[in-house]
Formats: sequence, structure tokens, C-alpha cells
Amino acid sequence: MIPKQSMGKRKNKNKYLFSIRNRIFVFAVLVTAIPSLSMGLLLQNMLQTTLEGKVKQKFVDSAQIMERELSLWLKKRVYDLTVFSNASIVSEAVTAYLKMPEERADDGKNRVPNIKILETYLSTLQHQFKGYVRIFVLSRTGSVIAASQSGGRDRPFTFPDDYIEQISDRQWFKGRAYIDSRDKSPLILIGVPLFLDQLYEYETLLAIEVRLTGLLSLLDPAKFGDSGDWTYQSLVDIKTGRQFLYGRGAKKVLSKINLSPFGDRQPLREYANGMGERLMGLVVPFRELGWGLFIAENYEKAFSGMIHARHRNIIIVCCFSVLMGIVAYLLTRQIMVPLSALTRGAERVAEGDLDVRLPVRRNDEIGFATTVFNEMVANLKLSKTKLEQLATTDPLTGLNNRKQVMGILRDHYAYYRRYKTAFSVLMLDVDHFKVVNDTYGHQAGDTVLKQVAEIFNENLRNVDSAGRYGGEEFLVILAESGVDESIQAAERIRKAVASHTFIHEEQEIQVYISVGISRIQNQDRDEQEVVGRADMALYRAKDEGRNRVVYQAADDQ
Ligand code: GH3
Ligand code: MG
Ligand code: MG
Repeated sequence: MIPKQSMGKRKNKNKYLFSIRNRIFVFAVLVTAIPSLSMGLLLQNMLQTTLEGKVKQKFVDSAQIMERELSLWLKKRVYDLTVFSNASIVSEAVTAYLKMPEERADDGKNRVPNIKILETYLSTLQHQFKGYVRIFVLSRTGSVIAASQSGGRDRPFTFPDDYIEQISDRQWFKGRAYIDSRDKSPLILIGVPLFLDQLYEYETLLAIEVRLTGLLSLLDPAKFGDSGDWTYQSLVDIKTGRQFLYGRGAKKVLSKINLSPFGDRQPLREYANGMGERLMGLVVPFRELGWGLFIAENYEKAFSGMIHARHRNIIIVCCFSVLMGIVAYLLTRQIMVPLSALTRGAERVAEGDLDVRLPVRRNDEIGFATTVFNEMVANLKLSKTKLEQLATTDPLTGLNNRKQVMGILRDHYAYYRRYKTAFSVLMLDVDHFKVVNDTYGHQAGDTVLKQVAEIFNENLRNVDSAGRYGGEEFLVILAESGVDESIQAAERIRKAVASHTFIHEEQEIQVYISVGISRIQNQDRDEQEVVGRADMALYRAKDEGRNRVVYQAADDQ
């Protein structure tokens, strides 16, 4: 028998972290999750690259259109300026002004007639072209010679340092964008040189101050069609990186982003706008204009397809993992359930229960193992039964051996002590058995003993027990029987033996037995006392001439 403690320990094995079930489960989940996740990541990367390419292309296309439209817009302004400058009233007034140095010294308080005429003309033009805030005639240092009347004559404007290079490049110049101090709208100065009297040198410039808000329609995000509501654009100064004009809805989103000065197109990258919003943006320079376009899209919106695909991937991987987990669970159940049934069966066998029989439900390895287990237990039981039989029965007669019959007698005695169920003991001995042996041989003696035992069995009830007490001496226990009944039973057996003809190798042998009887008595201190009395009775029977039954009462009776 296995000690109880170690049995308990064995049961705990089912709960181990690294049980076969857990290992198969983890394996199944890993086998599903690792390839699915790597495929997902690979697809994700491909998708991201493709999407980024698409977004970038869209931005670049848009920037190209923008550049064309911007230069067209500027050309229109320059065209207007050229037309204005060709007016004879301008050249005449400026020529007159340049010829009179005292007029040039005038600081503007006392306008001389030429300048007054010029300013009236400029004002008229300004009225006609509402997009122009002010129209100036400027000196080569950028100081105002004449200005249209409205729009604030003395309000500062930004005059470019490099206007000479600009003019030699393309016959016109433009300044940096600056802010109108009155309404905070962005402004810009665009100008052309005034060539007078067919001279190739110019002394003065004609310039217009233009409100850049006229460009807003070019920055309308609706131009992007599919992504209209989440694409933001602004115009940027290449040299400073400062954004100066925002498209619809873009100011709030883009104004906190600091762009550094740039000469080349910046790659598509992520920008944080300080409000927790992720943006994918691109900066494209328009080198000729000195401006650039900053286009950005809300990351989630731009990559919504990809983000959805990622979520879908995660869900698919999770579903697959769960599915494989379930499959693994069911598979391990198929192994583990019969395995634990086998373990439980083996434990019961270990505890001594040989009546275990496990149901064989399947025609596979487990079913085979179960069949083998059942056969093993059946064989064990058979061996145990045989061993028990060997230990308790007499091999010659098949009756209980002495040890066994004495055990039964002890049980009867204990039962009697408890329930007062009286029993009798018969002591039987073959008469002159030595003579049988001597006359017919030992083999014949054995045959006689066997047949005597059969006669006992035929004449006893199921509740009675017979055993071989010694060589040719037997002990019979008659359960719950009185004196008369016991004597009758003993007589029945004696007569049966006496009337039986024993045959050994065609030789007829006559045999008789003597029987001593005793009955359990209240004063008996153990079972040996009743046996002792039966022995005495047998002795008397032998003494009185054999082939008889003698009852031995207790001493005081
Ligand atoms: P009594 O009437 O006084 O009992 O005479 P008996 O000859 O039967 O008594 P005894 O005790 O002198 O002899 C018993 C004989 O039984 C002696 C022994 O050889 C024989 N015997 C004991 N066991 C066996 C056995 O298993 N087989 C055979 N064949 N003989 C046995
Ligand atoms: Mg004898
Ligand atoms: Mg004897």
C-alpha cells in the first residue's frame, strides 16, 4: 500500500503549471499567433508604404497645381502693375519729380503739384482694383514718393532687401508676407521698376500692397475631394519657415507647428501640432516664389484604411488563437480525460481495489491502453484470488485449512458473544486410518480423505463450515444449532460415511468415522474451550468402540 501522503501528492500533479494540457494549449496559441502576427505585421508594413506613397503623391500633385496657380496669380498682379506703370501720367509726374530736387527734399507735408496728381491717379486705380490695399511709387531705397490716399499712408510695409536681384531675374519683385496691423490679414508688396524716357536704368518703383486672402480659394481643402475635411494647407516662407497664410480650418491645426527654413522638399513625415493631434505632412518649396506649401492630413483619417486593417488583423489573430485554443483544449481533453480516468483507476488498484473496470470507448491508442489496463487488473485479481485460496484451503480436500477454520470459529465465537447465537463444533476422525494406509497404500488413503470431505459438503448447510484440522481429523462448525440438531447432523454424516463404499483403483474400501460434539457455553472464555470439549467427546467415541457420535456437555451440566 502506498502511504496516504504520497497519494495526495500524486493527485496534485493534475494542477501543475507545466501539465501536458497547458503545454499543448500554449503551443497551439503560439503556433497560431506567431505566423499570423508576423504576416499581419508584414501586410501592415506593405499597406503603410503603399498608403504613404499614395498620400505623398496626392500632396505632391496638389502642390504642383498650387505652384502653377500661384505663379499665375502673381503674373496677373505683375501684369496689372505693368499696365499701371505704362500710363503716361505716371511717367510724366515721376520724371517731373525726379528733375526737381527741392521736391525730393519735401517730407510730404506740402505736396507739390506733380506728386498730388500722381497720388490722385494712384487713388483712382486703388478704387478700381479692390484687391489692392495701397499703390505706391517708391524710391530705390523703398521710401514712399507717392501713395494712394486710402489704406493708411504711413502704415509700415515690408520692403525686400533683394529687390534688385529679383528685378534683374524676372523684371518684378515681391517682399515677405507681413500682417496688416488693423485687421491682422496677411499682406504682401509686389512691384515693378519704372523705366522713364526709354532709359535702361530705373530710379523709382511702382508697387502694390496686396491682401493675400485672395489666395485662400487656392488653399481650399475641398480641392482634395475625398479627404476634403481633414486636409490642411498653409503657405510658408522658405527662408524663415514661417507660415503666413492658412487654408480653411488650417490655422487652428497647423499654426503651432514650427517648420524650419527649407530649400528642398521635406519628406512625408509625422508632425505633432501641440494639441495631441497626429498629422502626416509634407513641405514642398516653390523656389521661384520663395514660398512653400505645407500640406498635412490627420493621421487617423489619412490612414484610416490601414488602421482598420490593423484592427481587423488583430481581431482575426485573436479569433484564430481562440479557435486554436479551443481545438487544442478539445484535443487535450480527448487525451487527458481518459488519461485521468486511467490514473484514477490505477490509484484505486494501488489502494487495493481490484474490481476496477474502465469503459473502453475508443478504438485508438488510449482505447488500447485502457483494454490492456483492464486485462492487467483482471489478471491481478485472478492471481490474488488464487493466492487467497492457497492460503486458506487445504490442497488435498479443498476444505478450509486449519488456520482458516479456526479463524471462522473465532468469528462465530465473537458473534455469539455479541448476539448470543449459539453454535456447535464437531470433531471428526477416521477410524483406524493407519490400517487403510497400510492395507491399500497412501494414495488410497488420500482418495478416502477427499471423498470424506465431499460427504461433509453434501451433508452440511451453507451456513456451516468444514475444515481439515489435522491428518485425518476434521472440524465442522454448525451455525445456530441446538444440541439435538447437532447430534442429528453428526449422525447423518457418520451414517453417510459408513454406508459409502470408497473405491480406489477398483478396490472397495470400507471406512468409518467417530464424531465428538460440543456446544458453545456462556462460561466458555474462548473458542478453544469448545474445541477442547469436542476433542474430549471424540476421545470418548473412540474409547467407546468407534463409528459413533458422542456429545460432550459442559462440566457443570
Ligand atoms: P484411530 O482409530 O485411533 O484414529 O486410529 P488411526 O489409525 O486412524 O490413528 P493414527 O493417529 O494412529 O493414525 C493416523 C494415520 O493417518 C497416520 C498417518 O499416516 C495417516 N495420515 C495422516 N495424514 C494423512 C494423509 O494426508 N494421507 C494419508 N494417506 N494418510 C495420512
Ligand atoms: Mg483416526
Ligand atoms: Mg487421528
